Amino acid sequence: MKKLNLLLTALLISGAAISQKWTSDLTKQWDPVPEIITPGEGTEPPSDAIILFDGSNLDSWESSKDGGPVKWIIEDGHMTMVKGSGFIETKQGFKDIQLHIEWRTPADIQGSGQGRGNSGVFLQKKYEVQVLDSYENETYVNGQAGAVYKQHIPLVNACKPPGEWQSYDIIFTAPRFNENGSLFSPARVSVLHNGVLIQNNVSIQGTTENVGLPNYDPFNPVQPISLQDHSNPVSYRNIWVREL
Ligand code: MG
Repeated sequence: MKKLNLLLTALLISGAAISQKWTSDLTKQWDPVPEIITPGEGTEPPSDAIILFDGSNLDSWESSKDGGPVKWIIEDGHMTMVKGSGFIETKQGFKDIQLHIEWRTPADIQGSGQGRGNSGVFLQKKYEVQVLDSYENETYVNGQAGAVYKQHIPLVNACKPPGEWQSYDIIFTAPRFNENGSLFSPARVSVLHNGVLIQNNVSIQGTTENVGLPNYDPFNPVQPISLQDHSNPVSYRNIWVREL
């Protein structure tokens, strides 16, 4: 019995020694040191953001139709879609990003359902985060504001009334493909609408399709962000992006 007690004591002491080793320096990491940046106040861009639109010009954008100048109108620090002018897209391509964008649907309510304040933020020109006046405006729920269009219903409806500025903060991870072109990992997205989490790292099933099912084809992983012309005069302002 004495021998057993001695053995147990020895085991306890050695166990304590081992646990001591694991409680301190072994688990501290000193590099890589995160880059120092200056955060913006409120919706101001942080110092490492790429400014895509600050209200003064559309130099970072081009027409998706022909690569020519954007025909959307700038006034009072925002841009507004002009019916028939087509989608616009960033000249620069992006992969994994944090995107801030503010949008406003017309105060003068016209149309209903998908015809009321419809536009959209297309990540990599392929995956739409729906922009829609979803304030007391019924439509199919995977097509309302903040939906990953026809794929993911927003967790809540955080829409403000038409005519008010709203924001999306989007964290997007691009899809990855194997060398043989098969899908390695799907795109993922989180969306905050007016500061409220409405998409929580959801897995995107493929390209946004209005008719038919989404799909994945391998492509250059660096692609523009585009904004939709859906015939409604939706406005945008304060657009910036951080590459992740
Ligand atoms: Mg849309």
